[in-house]
Amino acid sequence: MSFLELKNITKRYGPLTAVGDVSLSVEKGEFVSLLGPSGCGKTTTLQMIAGFVEPSAGTIRLDGRDITRAKANSRGLGIVFQSYALFPHMTVFDNVSFGLEMQRVPKGERKPRVEEALSLVHLSPYAKRYPRELSGGQRQRVALARALVIRPPVLLLDEPLSNLDAKLREAMQYELREIQRKVGTTTVMVTHDQAEAFSISDRVVVMEAGRITQIDQPYRIYEHPETEFISRFVGKTNLLPGKVATATGAGATVSLAGIAVPVEMPGLSVGETVTLCIRPEKLRLTQPSNGLLTGRVADRFFLGSQWLYHIDGPLGTVMVVTPNDGSAPADQGAPVGLEWTPSVVRVHRGAMAEAPD
Ligand code: ATP
Repeated sequence: MSFLELKNITKRYGPLTAVGDVSLSVEKGEFVSLLGPSGCGKTTTLQMIAGFVEPSAGTIRLDGRDITRAKANSRGLGIVFQSYALFPHMTVFDNVSFGLEMQRVPKGERKPRVEEALSLVHLSPYAKRYPRELSGGQRQRVALARALVIRPPVLLLDEPLSNLDAKLREAMQYELREIQRKVGTTTVMVTHDQAEAFSISDRVVVMEAGRITQIDQPYRIYEHPETEFISRFVGKTNLLPGKVATATGAGATVSLAGIAVPVEMPGLSVGETVTLCIRPEKLRLTQPSNGLLTGRVADRFFLGSQWLYHIDGPLGTVMVVTPNDGSAPADQGAPVGLEWTPSVVRVHRGAMAEAPD
């Protein structure tokens, strides 16, 4: 049995199923993120683990113990919210010590524990300051120290970095992961930010409309999205509608606007409607005569380490991302070819869904 187990967890609000039949096993020491668009049920799931929301059905087990109906404070979990929720009239030291007082840890033990927690988040010199005297990143580190000082079996993070500006946010992602590795606390984080989930999680749980649609390591979700929704939600992608033209045992060709494109997916039937997903960085620009497809450079955008091209051709506009190797980019209006290897093409069965806004 895993350290934290959600089994067939459901939460209904009247006719609305906010979370439907969610099962998830988290191993001890693992960092797992719940990722999905607004309203998909991430926070509700986290709140059921925390004990703030009671499931309508299903069970939650922590280290083998059924905690489904246990009171939040009896679970002893560490929780960090987006809003920090620090006490403004207390110093950093007292904010961190507060959790220990609540747990009735003897006074003599508290001081070294708080000092240890502040050192962990690199805030030892700030112990006597008040929250208003700290930057956003420092406040969030106080919140983290306060959650970790109680040595919780599980750390729950609800969009912990979303109040920080982009640069600090990225720096804090790495710091958060480093701290989590050091203390080894099993962690579940809610985020709607794919880059954040990918960069620091062992596994990512993708949720959509109250349900889990994929649980996997970040690179697997990126490279092998199980649904078209995940292809769209995670990173940039080209989605190309087509029909299976030929099918052999292991592979097939798909006709895209009359052009036969090889794919490596078994079990397809001739005439079947499919949607191909090709990541922009998997496409290469080449001479028009060498390309599987041809088109013209409609637009190009300099991203620093990469170039993003919009190529207009028979399939509409296709995105291509190439590494910036220092050489001059392709000119606007230039004719180009596009090539790729069949193994990078993901095939989703069925017609393409309407693109979300
Ligand atoms: P966000 O990223 O916007 O926070 P989320 O994925 O965390 O979204 P939840 O907050 O879990 O989503 O909400 C899931 C669904 O449940 C939403 O449709 C929401 O409106 C609904 N919901 C959440 N809490 C309640 C409540 N107390 N009463 C009624 N409906 C609720």
